[in-house]
Amino acid sequence: MTTGYPIDLHTHSLRSDGALTEVELVRRAAARAVKIQALSDHDTLVGVAAAVAEGERLGVRVIPATELNTESEWGDVHILSYFVDPHDEALEERLRWLRENRGRRIELMVEKLNALGYAVSLDRVRDIAQGGSLGRPHLAQALFEAGHVPTYDSAFATLISKDSPAYVSRVGLAPLEAVALVREHGGVPALAHPGTTVGLEQILPELTKAGLAGIECYYPSHSPTWTAYCLRLAKQWGLTPTGGSDFHGRGEHGADLGAVFVPPETIAALEAKRGSAYHSTRVEGEL
Ligand SMILES: [Zn+2]
Ligand SMILES: [Zn+2]
Repeated sequence: MTTGYPIDLHTHSLRSDGALTEVELVRRAAARAVKIQALSDHDTLVGVAAAVAEGERLGVRVIPATELNTESEWGDVHILSYFVDPHDEALEERLRWLRENRGRRIELMVEKLNALGYAVSLDRVRDIAQGGSLGRPHLAQALFEAGHVPTYDSAFATLISKDSPAYVSRVGLAPLEAVALVREHGGVPALAHPGTTVGLEQILPELTKAGLAGIECYYPSHSPTWTAYCLRLAKQWGLTPTGGSDFHGRGEHGADLGAVFVPPETIAALEAKRGSAYHSTRVEGEL
């Protein structure tokens, strides 16, 4: 059954990279007749309690959520996490650590290299990356340029590969770890904007095994063909189709609040997958 009120399960406030406060965001949702809204800021729950309170005042049900960014070779894999507890201090602590250490890995490797006598400047590594996020290839290039290694490849082999002296392990969550983290904290994980995931059909079975419950089939940039494809994948893997605007309040991506159709039965389907419906399995590997 479908009725006519807007639902939006993907929105951002300035607690992450949105433009509005969480209270302004809920007011805007109410003004646009949205009845159910998830506040899903990246890697934080800090705005949720105030958003829920404002929603109660205005007749908007605000579902506590967060969107976890992950690090992997699978493109941009973002995990939406519904029904997490906004007062879950342990989860927020973990998220805070991830936020603070993101991007710190290469800085730490530069510090290690300098301590080992291989003079490399972080500024030069940043120049090589040309404003992109820093990675080991940029560091290898800087080591090669500085004459510390005979070839680019040997920088990896002798200094910055796993088990080498200047190696620092990844600090972000891998996609499977993100799904497991959400489950451990009683939330319901869904894959956001699956169009940014590389190798979607390869990773989806693994994510599902780890506890993934939904996939964002309804999304501003999805063509009808892509939505239909996502709905087929949802059916194949027993995932609930979710959707939202990914509203950020600045217009460079996402649609306006409530502008993307989301079927009303979505909420009950996600709720049914909370807690006891899920049996945890240990997650290993680098996915
Ligand atoms: Zn995202
Ligand atoms: Zn988002």
